[in-house]
Amino acid sequence: MRDAEQVLFAGGGHDRAAQLRGDEARLAALAADPAARALPLWRGKALVSEAREEGGFLRLAWLPLDHPFVAEHGGDRVFLGLADGAARFAVDVSGWEAPDLDAAAMGRFADGSLNRPPGLEGRAFAELRAHMGMLDPEEAGVAATAKGVLGWHATHGFCARCGAASRAAEGGWRRACPECGGQHFPRTDPVVIMLVTRGQSVLIGRQAGWPEGMHSLLAGFVEPGESLEAAVRRETFEEAGIAVGRVTYLASQPWPFPSSLMIGCHGEALDAEIRLDPVELEAARWATREEILAGLSGRDPALRPARRGAIARFLLERWVADALA
Ligand SMILES: [Zn+2]
Repeated sequence: MRDAEQVLFAGGGHDRAAQLRGDEARLAALAADPAARALPLWRGKALVSEAREEGGFLRLAWLPLDHPFVAEHGGDRVFLGLADGAARFAVDVSGWEAPDLDAAAMGRFADGSLNRPPGLEGRAFAELRAHMGMLDPEEAGVAATAKGVLGWHATHGFCARCGAASRAAEGGWRRACPECGGQHFPRTDPVVIMLVTRGQSVLIGRQAGWPEGMHSLLAGFVEPGESLEAAVRRETFEEAGIAVGRVTYLASQPWPFPSSLMIGCHGEALDAEIRLDPVELEAARWATREEILAGLSGRDPALRPARRGAIARFLLERWVADALA
């Protein structure tokens, strides 16, 4: 698909400088450089600048590594790469206790609440999924990388082989076990998300608990020993009882909630009769281009496509515009 890399979070344009990760002396020198910057992440939320021009994007808020807030609350640190010769790091500041914590908001489908740390006027921690439509496309990929790797550290402190506490290595891109020598790497879990079509209609569904009217494309985790094509066919049949023939790859999206890679595929349905799996889906239906267009433009409250920034919406927009090639 021609514009596949315009998917949000897929902007892999930043220089990861992966060749430097194993060079501890060089990383230490880069971290000591006053030009080095850190992106603080608090419980998965990235620090953004609240000041934005009309219609402009939210920008990530980078801080010097010796900023008091980072110095006081900084935990795990990951080397993200270089920008203009200076190092960029992601720093986990989850130890900070937010005074204005809205616990209910943090548990919602998408947490739109902002948490404002002291001494950082005009900046706030924002959940990436809730603010997808406002993120600077270039920076969104960096934010996704930071969230994905820091989230992995937060949940993988112990060796999966022997249970001993492991240590971060290689600028945060590996964890090493001092007991058994086990090496562990940040994981990415493949998920197929499929635009299944039959003639001029597309298969959409919704899960219980989603916001009212929201529909999306069907999706599911790829299992061990399974190709993408096989996963598309299995998931579509399991969830909606639809057999799928030809499958082609369209585009992918890093989805660090917590560690998925969404792999967008086109599947050609072989039949039309939907047999729903009520455990997986609350509803599934065929929708025409006109119906999807009405949903995309907000004219149909009963059919609200996935939010701006999600690959499901990206694929539906291209499908109605006949721009999948
Ligand atoms: Zn071990």
